[in-house]
Amino acid sequence: MIPILIGWGKDTKSLAYLGIARCSNCRNYDHLYLCETSSKVTLFFVPILKWGKKYFKVCNVCDARQEISEAKKTALLAESRGARANAKIPSCKQAASIWQTLDSTVAGYGVNGPGLESQLGKVVARLEERYSEKHVKYVVSVYMDCLQRAKAGRGRELRRPRYYVP
Ligand SMILES: [Zn+2]
Repeated sequence: MIPILIGWGKDTKSLAYLGIARCSNCRNYDHLYLCETSSKVTLFFVPILKWGKKYFKVCNVCDARQEISEAKKTALLAESRGARANAKIPSCKQAASIWQTLDSTVAGYGVNGPGLESQLGKVVARLEERYSEKHVKYVVSVYMDCLQRAKAGRGRELRRPRYYVP
């Protein structure tokens, strides 16, 4: 007799990259993702049933999940795709790269260092030659908000992204 292997569990998958934001739970600035979880039953490790789909915004650092409705998920997905097509939000890799360039400048001058503002201006101009101007402006606006907090003694590190969107 052949044993029938039945299993069950939960699936989590990443649906879209939502840009960089400050997490309301851990207060870090980080990549935010739209994720879907569902329950599943598998037969010989192949999912045969899926139910109870739920949608979340997930923080890359602390995994804090903010559940969102299906309608909101659809809107976010459209926005994310639209954003990519209209070049409003960069990809996760580009966002990380632009952020790191700004951050290494700040690290070199010090958060309150003299000459930082004018050097950042030059760095932004160089970034705009390499990346889309909208992408640079998007990351710079979030980074400047983060820098204001860093001036008040908070961290400004952006962690390495964990949830890649295929
Ligand atoms: Zn968090």
